[in-house]
Amino acid sequence: MKTDYDVIVIGAGPGGSMAARKCAEEGLDVLLIEKRQEIGSPVRCAEGVSKKGLQKFVNPQKKWIAAEIRGAKIYSPDGTEIVMSEEMAGSEVGYVLERKIFDRYLARLSARAGAEVLVKTRATGFERENDIMKVKMVHFGEQIDYTAKIIIGADGVESKVGRWAGIDTTLKLSEVESCVQYLLSGIELDPEYCLFYLGNNVAPGGYVWVFPKGEREANVGIGVLGSRVDRRPKEYLDEFIKKSYPGGKPVEMVVGGVPVKGEIETAVSDNVMLVGDAARHTDPITGGGIINAMEAGVYAGEVAGIAVEKGDYSAQTLSLYDEKWKSTIGKTIARNAILKDKFVTFTDDQLNSLAKALEGVKLEDLGVTELIRRIITKNPKLLWDIKDLFLKAR
Ligand SMILES: Cc1cc2nc3c(=O)[nH]c(=O)nc-3n(C[C@H](O)[C@H](O)[C@H](O)COP(=O)(O)OP(=O)(O)OC[C@H]3O[C@@H](n4cnc5c(N)ncnc54)[C@H](O)[C@@H]3O)c2cc1C
Repeated sequence: MKTDYDVIVIGAGPGGSMAARKCAEEGLDVLLIEKRQEIGSPVRCAEGVSKKGLQKFVNPQKKWIAAEIRGAKIYSPDGTEIVMSEEMAGSEVGYVLERKIFDRYLARLSARAGAEVLVKTRATGFERENDIMKVKMVHFGEQIDYTAKIIIGADGVESKVGRWAGIDTTLKLSEVESCVQYLLSGIELDPEYCLFYLGNNVAPGGYVWVFPKGEREANVGIGVLGSRVDRRPKEYLDEFIKKSYPGGKPVEMVVGGVPVKGEIETAVSDNVMLVGDAARHTDPITGGGIINAMEAGVYAGEVAGIAVEKGDYSAQTLSLYDEKWKSTIGKTIARNAILKDKFVTFTDDQLNSLAKALEGVKLEDLGVTELIRRIITKNPKLLWDIKDLFLKAR
């Protein structure tokens, strides 16, 4: 059995599988390891992605698409509805995936490209010896040590690779959304719209989502900012479901965290790159991280190819990866972190006024000037309250 690789990718989520696939396409010897015995399961995700984002990396396939979505409806605390087309609605609206199948499909693509894949294999640490990384792993209960020139840490929100490599990815309570979600069956809903509910009593510092998964079934979940709640997220969600979907039957439940920290300073150190949730690549406003993880995975694979070609795995060479993700996904992440910090301070009255100003508007036709005009007409004071949004978002 081969034990020496150019690259070992730790974690077979969307970020890790895309990184492994790109490494293999670059002609590298790559191993993808996953601690769970089934890639993609259990799912800790609402499974929404934008069509455009997804199509940059894979051709959509019926077997892993649970629902095709036309747009989003956003509800302010007083029930005012804003309707957005799918193109306008951000990183989570377009398809609702079946991630159990999707994640496995991505891992299979990496294997087809030439990556080796080991499941039920958990990385437990690594050491650097003469510029080579010795990765300690437990494979089916047995301790094994493999070596690699480069490690790509794609081990998700609870990433240990970042910590082992001395990369600062720490999250404060105010920088992580605590999420709970049910797969709710037996409910009446429009299967073509994702719904988002805002409000300080509904989901402080976050939102409730309803993402349809075909007929009479949806991922119904909540994300709240730990620093802004006095109850457990499940209590808020149960309250919402009791009111909105009293007949709904939860057939699955997941809990998890979503980083909303914004850009980290660097996602590299000597011999190591972090991708996806491990590098806090989620969008701070929507919480969407699937597409960003995939994109970051591709950049990490490209840079691994360059580093191996040069025979130089130093942080300085790998910083090209920082340049790549910061100049692309990083721009939106940084901007949306600023917007999120402002949004979470909105009172319910402000959210209602903003929604009223936008009610019935075709948002794709709305420029900033028209938006300001509408807000002034509906509620001049609101424009003063939210001026930072315009100043900071530029
Ligand atoms: C409740 C919830 C809802 C969400 N909804 C959406 C949504 O609708 N749309 C969206 O775009 N994003 C959503 N997200 C975020 C999205 O799930 C993540 O951004 C995405 O999965 C990140 O991909 P990743 O590859 O970085 O990490 P992950 O998908 O988390 O994959 C990491 C993998 O690493 C493995 N691993 C961890 N440690 C080790 C180790 N030591 N050794 C080996 N393997 C290891 C894990 O088992 C896992 O398979 C949601 C998140 C949550 C919690």
